[in-house]
Amino acid sequence: MKRIYILLIIAYSTNFTFGQKIKVNQTNQQTSFVIKNVNMITMTASNSIINNAMVVITGNRIETINGAIPKNATIIDGKGKWLMPGLIDVHVHLSTDGYFGSKLPTQSPDLAFNTQDIMTPIIANGVTTVLDLDSKMETFGQKKEIEKGYIVGPRIALAALINGGNGQGRIANTAEEGRIIVRNIKAEGYDFIKLYSKLNIETYTAIIDEANKLGLKTIGHIPNAFEGKLEQAFIPNFGMVAHAEEFSKHSENFSIQDAQKFAKLAKDNGTWLSPTLITMVWIAKQTHSVDSIRNSPNLKYVHPLLQSKWLTANNYVKNASPENISYYEDMVKFHFILVKAFKDSGVPIVAGTDAGVSGVVAGFSLHDELELLVQAGLTPEEALKSATTLPAQWLGIDKQIGTIETGKFADLVLLDENPLEDIKNTRKIKGVFINGKWLDKNKLNDMLADLAKRNTADKDKFDWKTLTNKRK
Ligand SMILES: [Zn+2]
Repeated sequence: MKRIYILLIIAYSTNFTFGQKIKVNQTNQQTSFVIKNVNMITMTASNSIINNAMVVITGNRIETINGAIPKNATIIDGKGKWLMPGLIDVHVHLSTDGYFGSKLPTQSPDLAFNTQDIMTPIIANGVTTVLDLDSKMETFGQKKEIEKGYIVGPRIALAALINGGNGQGRIANTAEEGRIIVRNIKAEGYDFIKLYSKLNIETYTAIIDEANKLGLKTIGHIPNAFEGKLEQAFIPNFGMVAHAEEFSKHSENFSIQDAQKFAKLAKDNGTWLSPTLITMVWIAKQTHSVDSIRNSPNLKYVHPLLQSKWLTANNYVKNASPENISYYEDMVKFHFILVKAFKDSGVPIVAGTDAGVSGVVAGFSLHDELELLVQAGLTPEEALKSATTLPAQWLGIDKQIGTIETGKFADLVLLDENPLEDIKNTRKIKGVFINGKWLDKNKLNDMLADLAKRNTADKDKFDWKTLTNKRK
């Protein structure tokens, strides 16, 4: 009798959840948008540009292209405008809550970030998918908040970071430890593995092997252990190098020959590159002067605690010397040479920004990266690919996003001008569709202005040194 009672409860709660799910979908189905007379940059294999197209978005999908207009659809005038797929940043660090003192079960975090505030600069810039390269438990929570519709934010792919040596986080110093951590990461539900600098060779090799067996791709640094034997790092299934800097560290003279040699290693191994040019540009800038950060027009969109950290506890600024100022300047120049060499060798290049590193503000930074990629020798079309189709392919979600095609998720950016003519035009955003939700320029500007206002008002409450001293 007792058993039947329990079964009934389970049956009831299952129905309840299922019923709610159906209801959500039905609500979505009633909402349709039509973008009329728009110039569409499809980013499909043929990359056809369809002029005067009519795109119907129903729920969170692209329902038809040049099909019938559904009843009660909201019309968006696309005349003279350009529609491209939502952008993808394969290298971000989303902020997570901070505990600065000792923890008790009843203690709330010293710093609880507002998830919407983290996501607003990202979506306001038309970035509709990100790969978070050091995800935490809270990142799963943020992802869920977005999926449930409580927060407007990008699709988030989660990577778990593994390092060697000592310290916090996931540390592996033997092949066996590496394999166990990879299995745990898989069981915990992460999508990717981030390899970090202090892994030894044996552990690095085992991690990549185990990850491949479990269907997890790897992206990361090239561990320091490969100094003088870089070629040994290029083993099967090393998926992507997360910074051009990982190569430049192995060049003594920053020569074109070195760049070509590195490109061949990556090409022969099927390893992709995300150069993160904007990261190195920001490192070089702040080494010159911290005022570069202080005067950045995008600083106000960063949480005041991070602003304080970037301005007062910044190692690039602290360690600045004439030698490393000129070293970083040369590094920026060599990064451009690297990108050109990798492009010429046919290595797929994808846009990542390391947003969260001092100076690099998520969302805005992707447009900076696209501009830098074009300066380095990519065509505007190749730059767009680096932030749409290519990352979608690497992430394994190219059937769902990355192009404008019927049936795909409605992640779209409407622009005032053609980005194929000038890549800077990706910044001229008229509105963004994110998972079928339409946010026009006014709405996005309001969200940004509100965020900036609160961040500025709270500035004095968040001093990096005071808060982090609580740790001791
Ligand atoms: Zn990073």
